[in-house]
Amino acid sequence: MITPFQNEPYLNYTVATNRQAMLAAVADLRANLGKDHPLLIAGERIHTEDKQRSVNPSNPSELIGTVSKASPELATKAVDAAYAYFPEWSRTDAMDRVAMALRAAQLLRERKLHFNAWLTLESGKTFAEAEGETAEAIDFCEYYAREMARLSGAQEVVQLPGERGEMHYLPLGVGVVIPPWNFPLAILTGMTVAALVTGNTVVLKPSSETPIMAAALCDLLLEAGFPAKALQFVPGSGSQIGDLIVQHSKTRFIAFTGSRDVGLRINELAAKPQPGQIWIKRVVAEMGGKDAIVVDAESDFDKAVEGVFFSAFGYQGQKCSACSRAIVHTDIYDKFVEHLAAKAATVQVGEADEPANYMGPVISASAKKSIEKYIEIGKTEGRLVAGGTPIAKDGYFLPPTIIADVDGKARIFQEEIFGPVLSVTRAKDFEHALALANDSVYGLTGAVYTTNPAHIKAARERFFVGNLYVNRKCTGAMVGAHPFGGFNMSGTDSKAGGPDYLLLFLQAKSIAEKVS
Ligand code: NAP
Repeated sequence: MITPFQNEPYLNYTVATNRQAMLAAVADLRANLGKDHPLLIAGERIHTEDKQRSVNPSNPSELIGTVSKASPELATKAVDAAYAYFPEWSRTDAMDRVAMALRAAQLLRERKLHFNAWLTLESGKTFAEAEGETAEAIDFCEYYAREMARLSGAQEVVQLPGERGEMHYLPLGVGVVIPPWNFPLAILTGMTVAALVTGNTVVLKPSSETPIMAAALCDLLLEAGFPAKALQFVPGSGSQIGDLIVQHSKTRFIAFTGSRDVGLRINELAAKPQPGQIWIKRVVAEMGGKDAIVVDAESDFDKAVEGVFFSAFGYQGQKCSACSRAIVHTDIYDKFVEHLAAKAATVQVGEADEPANYMGPVISASAKKSIEKYIEIGKTEGRLVAGGTPIAKDGYFLPPTIIADVDGKARIFQEEIFGPVLSVTRAKDFEHALALANDSVYGLTGAVYTTNPAHIKAARERFFVGNLYVNRKCTGAMVGAHPFGGFNMSGTDSKAGGPDYLLLFLQAKSIAEKVS
C-alpha cells in the first residue's frame, strides 16, 4: 500500500546546523572531484578518448569532472541497444518499476546533501536553490511512482451487453531524453523516471554544461534497481549527436526540455519519417519563457516588490519560470522601481557555496557574454536602475540588473535572456498591463499582484500562460500542486508533475471480448 503523495520538506539553511552540514557535504564532494565518467550502453561502461570537461561556474579553474563523449557510432549503438532491450523491459511488472522509482526517491532523500553539493558546485546553485531542486527530484520519483500504480492494470471502460471491455496503457518504446542544464537533477530525473517507470527504455543525452550531475543520477537509478540495459547514458554535444538520436528510425519519442530553437528543431526533425520507421514520433518539448508579473495599483506593495525580486533573481534568473518582465500600474510605478532597485542593490553575488551570497554565477562564459550583450541592448531600450556592470572575479558573475521604462516592443521585453536581467514597463491600467503581459510568443508562467476581485477574475480568464499565480511569485512550481508546462512557443504544455504527464509516455490499447 503506497501512502498518499506529499512534497518533500525543505531544510532551512538559515539554521546554523543545517548550513554547517551543507558546508561539510560540499567539502566532502570537493575532495572527490575530477573523476572521469564513462558512457553506459547496453549495460556496458564505455570510455572514449574524446572527453567533455565540466567546471565550477563559481570558479572555472576547478574541474568538476570529465565524461566520455559518445561518437555518432556509439550514439547510434545506444538507440539500437535501447530498442533491443525494450521488449523485455516493457513486460516487467509495472509494480516492480513503481518500486524502483520509490527506491530512487529514498536514495535521493538519504543523500540529499550530497546531491545538493553537486548542484552547488556544477551548476552554481546556492544551498537554498539546490535544496529546492533535490526535493523536486524526489517529488518526481514519488509522484510518478504513484501515477504509474494508478495507470497500471485494466482501466475501466463502459461495458456493452455481451462484451467484456477494458483498456490498458502500454509503453511506447525507445525514448530519447534531452534535459537542460538549469535543472540538471530535477528535470533530468523527472523526464527519465517518467520514461522508465512507464516501461520505456531510455537514451539519455545530458546537457554539455552539467554532465556529471547526470552521471551521478544514472548511478543512483541503477542502484535503485532500474536495469543498466534500460538506461543508456550518452553524453555528447547536442550539435554532434542530437540530430542523430532524434532522427534514428528506432527512436519512438523524444522528451526534451530546453530552448525554443532547439525544441523546434527537434520537433521538425522528428516529424520526418526515416527509412524503416513505422510510427509517428511523439515529441514532448518544454521550452523557453518570457514570464511577466503584473503589479496592480490595488495590491500589497511590499509583497509585490518581494515577489518580483525573488522571481527575477533566484538562481540568477536562469529559470524558465523566472520573471523577466515586471509590468506595473502607473499609479505605483515610480515607487515600485525605486524600492525594487534599492532591494537589488543589497544583493550579495559570489561563490554559490558561500552561504552569505544570495546570487551565484551564471552557468558559463558564453551565457555571461550573451547576457552582457542584452544588458547593453537594454541600456539603449530603457533606463538602467540597478546592476549592469559585470563583477570582476574569476567566476561567471553578474549583478541583478533592472532596466526601467522599457517599451512592449523592445527586444529585452520580447526575447528570452535567461539571466539576472529584469525589464520594468509602465501600464496605464490593469487591462493595458494584461495586454502587455500577453504580448509574447511565449506563455509559460505569469503572476498578478492585485487585491481587486474583478482583476483577479480577468487574469484567471485572459492571462494566457500555462502556470498562473495570483498574489505570489511566478517561480517555485511544486510537483503535484502546480502541474508545469507552457503555451505557445513555451512548448507542448506537458504538465510535468501533474496527472496527465505519464500519459505522454504511454499508448492505450482497448480490448473487447465477446462473452455471449
Ligand atoms: P538548449 O541550449 O536548448 O539545450 C537543451 C538540451 O538540448 C541540451 O542537452 C543540449 O545539449 C541539447 N541540444 C542542443 N542542440 C541539440 C540538437 N540539435 N538536438 C538535440 N539536442 C540538442 O537549452 P539550455 O540552455 O540547456 O536550457 C535553457 C533553456 O531551457 C531556456 O530556454 C529555458 O527557458 C528552457 N527551460 C524550459 C523549461 C520548461 O519547463 N519549459 C525548464 C527549464 C529550462 P548541449 O548542452 O550538448 O548543447
